[in-house]
Amino acid sequence: MFKLMEHLLAIQNYQLNARGHTPEALAEMKQRRSEVPAPILAHFDRMIARGKKGLAAVRDGVCTECHLRLTTGKLADLAAAKDIWLCDNCGRYLYLPAAEKVDANAIPKSKPLPGKRPAAKTARPGARNHSRMIS
Ligand SMILES: [Zn+2]
Repeated sequence: MFKLMEHLLAIQNYQLNARGHTPEALAEMKQRRSEVPAPILAHFDRMIARGKKGLAAVRDGVCTECHLRLTTGKLADLAAAKDIWLCDNCGRYLYLPAAEKVDANAIPKSKPLPGKRPAAKTARPGARNHSRMIS
């Protein structure tokens, strides 16, 4: 997954889970927040402040928060982790959970290696020429 999305997801989980607020977690969140560009963080924080999730998982090509179907182009970009996307409808950052990353169309199939067969063994078991050993 996009590193940025990973940060946002961790921050979101932290914000939504009041129990996880240990000093260690707080330090980790500070670190993660420092790695997210300010405008992205600001937008994300606004969502959280309104009690919404700032991040929406994409499942079966659909935003799980508002159920908007994404275009295949957007999906492909998400799968390739080339760019970050906002849901057109609910304005959340979209991410593909790792388990969703099995879109066969997005992944180029690796070609099988051209016929590399194991060398045929031509050695024949012992020709009987023992008689010549003692002459
Ligand atoms: Zn949405």
